[in-house]
Amino acid sequence: MPPSLDPACLLIDGAWTPAEDGRQRAVVNPFDSSTLAAVAEASEADTDRAVRAARSAFDEGSWARAPSAHRAGVLTATADALQSQREQLARLETLDTGKTLAESRMDVDDATAVLRYYAALVTSDAGRTIDTGRPDAISRVVHEPVGVCALITPWNYPLLQIVWKLAPALAAGNTVVAKPSEVTPLTTIRLFRLLQAELEQAGAPGGTANLVLGGGAVGAALARHPAVDLVSFTGGLATGRSVMRAAADTVKKVALELGGKNPNIVFADADLDAALDFALTAAFLHSGQVCSAGSRLLLHRSLHADFTAELARRADLIRLGDGLDKGTETGPLVSAEHRRKVEDHIAGALAAGAVLRAGGSRPTEPELQAGFFPRPTVLDGCHPGMAVIREEVFGPVLTVELFDDEDEVVALANDTPYGLAGAVWTQDTGRGERVASRLRLGTVWINDYHPYVPQAEWGGFKQSGTGRELGPSGLREYQESKHIWRTITPAAQHWFGG
Ligand code: NAD
Repeated sequence: MPPSLDPACLLIDGAWTPAEDGRQRAVVNPFDSSTLAAVAEASEADTDRAVRAARSAFDEGSWARAPSAHRAGVLTATADALQSQREQLARLETLDTGKTLAESRMDVDDATAVLRYYAALVTSDAGRTIDTGRPDAISRVVHEPVGVCALITPWNYPLLQIVWKLAPALAAGNTVVAKPSEVTPLTTIRLFRLLQAELEQAGAPGGTANLVLGGGAVGAALARHPAVDLVSFTGGLATGRSVMRAAADTVKKVALELGGKNPNIVFADADLDAALDFALTAAFLHSGQVCSAGSRLLLHRSLHADFTAELARRADLIRLGDGLDKGTETGPLVSAEHRRKVEDHIAGALAAGAVLRAGGSRPTEPELQAGFFPRPTVLDGCHPGMAVIREEVFGPVLTVELFDDEDEVVALANDTPYGLAGAVWTQDTGRGERVASRLRLGTVWINDYHPYVPQAEWGGFKQSGTGRELGPSGLREYQESKHIWRTITPAAQHWFGG
């Protein structure tokens, strides 16, 4: 299926349009370096028009003040449309990101579930009544939309990440300007084509959902735009800091979903077959380009020799290839530039004393030469003093550290600026719960890795971010709470004598 080459792929005020200065950017397939599409590159003027369209649509009020069931209807119809194009969307995501088709299908299904979840949640979001202790007064707290929301997403889960923001933002009655990563914008464009059709059908104002495309300059223009009320950003730590600074001038609300350096802790009493299997998926799924990747394996010292040897053996067997091929277990990194960064991390770790147990080089198969592949890499003998333990690599690189007891492993796991996610493997239920409660992480899995559901909050402690996506908190991010007090029979109090 050829991706759309239509350059009119900015959505501004209900109209699909090219960039005003005609600029375009090529989108590349990371498996073979071929050009998939050329998409419009928004200028600052395009971005400003999109924000103003969202502002007028919000201020006009018909979307924000519509019954929540009306907005929920648009989300549900968009979910249905996504499912009706499930296979096309999944293939497009694979072409654009390199991930396997099986993962892309899961992403479309998860995006659909999140749209349906917020459609249901918003229609039962009733606010609350407060007991004032006074028979002549009624007090209640209601939830209202924040206003114009800028939604900025990264390249690893393009469809999923935008839906995690878009669904609660629209459900709550906001208007939006979305900006996907310049590296992988294709499924976001397709999603907005489906969404816009449903918005038009529902009679929503033209500027309800706007889409601008481009790189950091477009994201930065959104983050500082005075007519934007909220920025929801998912991406790297350094970019997150700059978004927060840019948002400060007009005191925008900011939600940040940033990186992770996630511990995967294996105690000696764990189910070792399962722990080993999940250690591989935790680290190497989507070539490790997952914010919650279990990139730090913390292994009980008694397991070291056997567990690490088997891990390295199986890492070497991982089948790299085209995400569209059935036999492929993991695809390439997203770009040549990103592969260079990952390789620099590996070289730095080896120079700092890490021991290479698997990978560490590019694959030699001729059919993989045009793609951005490194081999899945296992680095033994690591410790928290190394940069590879403190910094997010975001590639197929698994580090191994050893521990002797519970206190030590909790201290090791928490010794990082990040706090996104992690796992603990043990058959001792008490220990699992104890360790989970001591980890400074937004998500902890016990005897599992990676599952999530739309109903449960997702987000990070410490420098992994601020705010939460998914769950009821994911809706609250896009709402202002308003307290309304009504005195039924007003009577003068004569506080002042005059
Ligand atoms: P990135 O920070 O380079 O880019 C993210 C987005 O920000 C892109 O759309 C980019 O164009 C835009 N951007 C770049 N400069 C900007 C600026 N100055 N102002 C505003 N926007 C700007 O991240 P990436 O490389 O695309 O994605 C990888 C990162 O995303 C990793 O660190 C990963 O951990 C993180 N991530 C986190 C989560 C989570 O849920 N916490 C999920 C997925 C990815």
